[in-house]
Amino acid sequence: MSIDRSLLFRLATSTRFERTVKAVPRGQDAAWRAAARYVAGTEAGDAVRAARELHARGIGCSVDQFGEQVHDPAVARRVADDYRRLAGDLAGLPEDVWLSVDLSHLGLDVDPAACADDLAVIAQALPPGRRIQVGAEDHARADAVLTCVLDVAGRGLADRLGATAQANLRRTPDDVGRLLDAGVHLRLVKGAYVEPPDLALPFGEPTDIAFLRLAHRIAATNVPFALATHDGVLREALLAALGPVPIEQVLGVRPEVLHDLTARGIPVRVYVPFGENWFRYWMRRLAESRGR
Ligand SMILES: Cc1cc2nc3c(=O)[nH]c(=O)nc-3n(C[C@H](O)[C@H](O)[C@H](O)COP(=O)(O)OP(=O)(O)OC[C@H]3O[C@@H](n4cnc5c(N)ncnc54)[C@H](O)[C@@H]3O)c2cc1C
Repeated sequence: MSIDRSLLFRLATSTRFERTVKAVPRGQDAAWRAAARYVAGTEAGDAVRAARELHARGIGCSVDQFGEQVHDPAVARRVADDYRRLAGDLAGLPEDVWLSVDLSHLGLDVDPAACADDLAVIAQALPPGRRIQVGAEDHARADAVLTCVLDVAGRGLADRLGATAQANLRRTPDDVGRLLDAGVHLRLVKGAYVEPPDLALPFGEPTDIAFLRLAHRIAATNVPFALATHDGVLREALLAALGPVPIEQVLGVRPEVLHDLTARGIPVRVYVPFGENWFRYWMRRLAESRGR
């Protein structure tokens, strides 16, 4: 029996499941071996190494200390401090190295105002020309994420920020309008979360068509953007129509495509997660690999 996407998704946020797997003799090692293709390692230094390797191949990246759904203000504080340090460290790294963050890791659920202040501090600590790309989370957090990004962009930091638009969500065309007005970088994705049908289009053709429409709409503006997809048909259809627009992929998924894209002069960026929360991240990628 195959394990389906929604079950894997539920397991991805189950601390008990993670503890159980890691407690099985050699369970942690086996899980890490399978997860390692998707994560740079557990330390920031691992991500820095991956960033340098990618840069040497003409590929940019966005480094994420992966984590989410933090409910302890002290943890959120620590994460914000880590990100501020990372932002400063980018000065010693190639210009195509950016950051990525999920705002619930920065304490969005605990204190949205403090989260916005922290995001602004991190954005300010970035060397000029770099960005921090804000991930899109589940539908329940979409309003809070949008509010936070617009707030921080309104503080004169739009050119240091990125937002993520999920093509599958029915609300996204409206959100994209507001993000385009704000002028933040847009990363267009299909959407990773399993959402109810009244809020989201099904995976497959309806989401793919929404992706195409949004890509054309965004490309008709002057706002910087990237198509974040591993779907070769969608990607090539859009590259043929729009020219060499930036493509983003995640570490460990279809890496063979990257060389072909850079050889064709197409700007490429890879999302590079690291950190102690690799198990949860790996379960999410596994869920995605089940497709629709
Ligand atoms: C840079 C980047 C950032 C992202 N940020 C977010 C975000 O903030 N919020 C969010 O909801 N989603 C995010 N996503 C995930 C996105 O929403 C999709 O769930 C994910 O990219 C899979 O969709 P796809 O467009 O690659 O197309 P699919 O049709 O799902 O995949 C196309 C092909 O790629 C391969 N593939 C895709 N995923 C995997 C995998 N995990 N393992 C192995 N092979 C795979 C398969 O061969 C598959 O047939 C991000 C994706 C990228 C690339």
